[in-house]
Amino acid sequence: MAKYVLWDVDGTLLLNGPRAGSLYDEAIEQIAGISPSGPRPAEHGKVDGQIIAERLAEHGLSPDLHHAVADRLDDLSVERHTGADRRQLAPGVHEALDAVLAAGWTNCLLTGNSPRRARVKLEGAGLDPALFDWERSFFGDQARARSELTTAASAALHGSPRVIVGDTPSDDAAAAAVGIPFLAVATGVFPARELERTGAVFVMPDLVTGLPDLLAYLRQA
Ligand SMILES: [Mg+2]
Repeated sequence: MAKYVLWDVDGTLLLNGPRAGSLYDEAIEQIAGISPSGPRPAEHGKVDGQIIAERLAEHGLSPDLHHAVADRLDDLSVERHTGADRRQLAPGVHEALDAVLAAGWTNCLLTGNSPRRARVKLEGAGLDPALFDWERSFFGDQARARSELTTAASAALHGSPRVIVGDTPSDDAAAAAVGIPFLAVATGVFPARELERTGAVFVMPDLVTGLPDLLAYLRQA
């Protein structure tokens, strides 16, 4: 039977970018012609579709602009993540993906990004997109909540062992909503002590030191 590890992207496979939050405002500005309202707090754990919808509402703009803004966000991501602002891989990613595959599990994505945005970020960071099963991956550019992704994953992978690896309490909440086990990794903004207060089966400091625990979990799952 096929078994699936569903990887989050930002903060999990890739280290977070310093200006990631500004890209949504740039996309809205270019589509709607309004000026963004300055720096924003990071919104780690939210899916792109949710951030776009909230910012359109905040500016009093029509939700009908959602698709155009999401498309422009993709375009900006291609510019950003193939250039000087390309993301860095989190430590141990190549080794972890290889070990998961060798353990008989399939690597998939469960991310708030669109497929195009996820692909260009991964490629920009030097990770081959072919390492993932894109047919069994789940994306949040049109979703309004991360639980929509886990609901889709739960339905599509019904009956197969699956587990989510992510870096935020939101990943945990979305996994818990459908009963998918959640493994946390503290390479995003949330420190291990905060992730330990979630429902995570365990917390990995990073994918280097956490790999033995991850593999032990996969062997018994
Ligand atoms: Mg994340």
